Amino acid sequence: MESNQNFSVGLVYHPLYLQHDPGPNHPESPSRLLSIYELLEERKFLSRLTLISPRMASLEELTTVHDASYIKRIENFSKRGGGYLTLDTALSSKSYESACLAAGGILSAIDEISSFRTRMIFCLIRPPGHHALADQGMGFCLFNNLAIGAKYALEKYKISRILIIDWDVHHGNGIQEIFYSDPRVLYVSLHQYPLYPGTGSLDEVGLGEGEGFTINLPFPYHTGEQAYMRAFEEIISPVTDQFEPQLLMIAAGYDGHFADPLASLNLMVGSFAKMTAKVKKLAKMFCQGRLIFSLEGGYNLKALSHSVLATLNELAELGHKVSDPYGSPSTTPRGAEDVFDEARRIHEKYWKL
Ligand SMILES: [Zn+2]
Repeated sequence: MESNQNFSVGLVYHPLYLQHDPGPNHPESPSRLLSIYELLEERKFLSRLTLISPRMASLEELTTVHDASYIKRIENFSKRGGGYLTLDTALSSKSYESACLAAGGILSAIDEISSFRTRMIFCLIRPPGHHALADQGMGFCLFNNLAIGAKYALEKYKISRILIIDWDVHHGNGIQEIFYSDPRVLYVSLHQYPLYPGTGSLDEVGLGEGEGFTINLPFPYHTGEQAYMRAFEEIISPVTDQFEPQLLMIAAGYDGHFADPLASLNLMVGSFAKMTAKVKKLAKMFCQGRLIFSLEGGYNLKALSHSVLATLNELAELGHKVSDPYGSPSTTPRGAEDVFDEARRIHEKYWKL
């Protein structure tokens, strides 16, 4: 029987992540990470986790995903003091270093799980990554941390199948685009739709050899926990069973919480614990337990910090009770039945559902 006595849960963190500062009143603030770290400290979680120090991603590693000219542009822009790169994405003087360390945090996590010292790792990093394109930062993201990590795992560790589950409330257009024609990386996104960035419709399924290896579940506003559980049972579990991933990565955004100011889903703190239990089970069944979480969004500090706490509590089986500081949503959660009917119709061509 497998128990957590055999391996510990890792946490990637570094104070340099607080030095990327998009400026006052920006929702993607250093206080996001600080509020999580302080809650973990207050609840005495830190001593129960293996702290992993991240390294910087090298230029060569960044260029597996990004254009060299774009990386140079971020470096220069940041070194000149920063400012707004796009309408929503801003940099400070330390943003380039923070972004290299955020991508490097995923690389350090991959090195750790490959040595089997630690098999499940939560990367408490920022800036986030899932919107970043090869030649353009957007949606608060500079470098696509998870995509850089997936490329590294494919190339350095000769892993041949990676499943990325993206439960951030926004569609991860960057990850989708980077692996759109690549059947080695199966990208599954659960998100509110329509919402920023506008992509992630049901009929975006991948291209060429990658056709069928992108699965989008675009949920209407107020979609709740029951629909997310149904997505795991009816879509994600059977697809994972057929894909047989060797590594599972989670784009862990917490802006699907009903109190989040940037979206309107009806997930709760406990919903993230339930999803964590699901992905942990899948990682144990298919990936020898290898599971990496990368922090993406989440902009209500209390909802975010408690949801991450609930994730780690479930992951490391710490046995705490993590209650939702906001109780439960005031509107009736939607079941999104139409989305399931349509997803089944589209993806039955590629998977046995
Ligand atoms: Zn988001």
